[in-house]
Amino acid sequence: MYRENRQIFLDALKSDLNKPKLEATMMETHHLEDDVNFILNRLDKWVRTEEVPSKVPLDKSLIYNEPYGVVLVMGAWNYPLQLTMLPVAGAIAAGNAVVIKPSEVSAATASAIAKLVPQYLDKDCYPVVCGGIPETTELLKERFDYIFYTGSTTVGKIVRDAANKFLTPTTLELGGKSPCYIDNTVDITVATKRILWGKMINLGQTCIAPDYILCSKEVQEEFLKTAKEVLKQWYGDDARESKDLCRIVAERHVERLATYLDGGKVAIGGKYNVEEKWMEPTLLVDVDEKSKVMTEEIFGPILPIINVKNHVDAIEFINKREKPLALYVFSTKKDRQEMFMRQVPCGGVTLNDTIFHVASTDLPFGGVGNSGMGSYHGKFTFDTFTHKKACLNRSYNSFIDKAMQFRFPPYTEKGIETLTSLRDKGDGPGVLYYLKITMTHLVSMALGALILYLVLHYAQVRV
Ligand code: NAD
Repeated sequence: MYRENRQIFLDALKSDLNKPKLEATMMETHHLEDDVNFILNRLDKWVRTEEVPSKVPLDKSLIYNEPYGVVLVMGAWNYPLQLTMLPVAGAIAAGNAVVIKPSEVSAATASAIAKLVPQYLDKDCYPVVCGGIPETTELLKERFDYIFYTGSTTVGKIVRDAANKFLTPTTLELGGKSPCYIDNTVDITVATKRILWGKMINLGQTCIAPDYILCSKEVQEEFLKTAKEVLKQWYGDDARESKDLCRIVAERHVERLATYLDGGKVAIGGKYNVEEKWMEPTLLVDVDEKSKVMTEEIFGPILPIINVKNHVDAIEFINKREKPLALYVFSTKKDRQEMFMRQVPCGGVTLNDTIFHVASTDLPFGGVGNSGMGSYHGKFTFDTFTHKKACLNRSYNSFIDKAMQFRFPPYTEKGIETLTSLRDKGDGPGVLYYLKITMTHLVSMALGALILYLVLHYAQVRV
């Protein structure tokens, strides 16, 4: 479907967000095709029943991969194809039926998904449900076996409430404010380009976009100087004319973003146009920490800069707030990087770049606390949609029951002693103990046989 309809999807993304072809290809269509190939090349291995070590000899311990059943996947509008279909592929691979709910805000992509998916997948097993709040509210009244939701924290709570009615497990991929710290040890040109790229793709409407910068006054001066040059180089004198910038998804979001501008002093940019769903890349300095731009997720091309003395200050600033979805640290000092890694709880981190931890199929992607729960990507998606069913298969060999005779009534003090000596101390003596019991059993059988032999032999001699 992705290969045969690439252009249809690219057109839909253009229509919804004016997504440049390179961004749409890299972060939506190619990403999905690669993901399907990744799954297909490994699925045989993933679905295999796994045998794990057993504590008791002759026991077999198995983990079966069981699909949950019918799952609901709800996508968000900012990467409307990828965020909807990536979880869907993993859910199908794990053996589930999937109700697919694209975001109504990105209407063109939603209708492309609704039109194309039934041409490639069974309509009953993988129905696409379109619609806004009333339709989603109805949908959430149904009983699902798993719900995978991507979107805002506010709606995430609504989804979780609905799931709670049936104790349905959920993954919530939410948002928040992702900080970006820069110290004075970095190559400022490289750092500035990587930060501005992460911020300006999709015109800032990326859940893991750097939301605000933390740096010293000196680093801020260098960063602003470089940012001015880089933005001009990338988008020309009038960024509105650039073909390489998206548009804001809806007029109401431009209005929302405009209210953030008075949270600080505009150092670069600041122009916007509601009807054209447009705002230019904007950097704010002298920012009021209590203003909306610093208390709400920005989700647009505004980048406020907050001054901190050093990395210790920065960590304290971040940890006073909700746990972020992403964290970016630009520093060549290993001990500083390590301090952020160990002291800041957050969804995921890229050191010395932005966004890229999300592109790895070997790293789990997801938030923590207010930025979400659960994770996916690569095999983690398959695991998310799989119930790991434990199965212990026991042998009928009677020595096992003899060794564990104490478990059957009548219970005795001696039984407690045996139980205590059998306890697994975590370093393996449990298994050794069972081996010892087996050996003792064998030795006593051998001794019994020897005595019997001697008795018979003696009796024969006497006869
Ligand atoms: P959205 O408006 O597209 O909503 C997401 C889904 O929720 C849609 O399917 C929509 O139909 C449904 N929905 C909306 N309101 C609802 C309601 N009242 N009741 C039931 N369902 C409802 O997307 P959004 O929430 O504006 O998305 C932006 C947010 O998503 C940002 O906070 C962003 O950080 C976050 N996000 C997170 C990730 C991630 O992977 N963690 C990715 C993208 C976006």
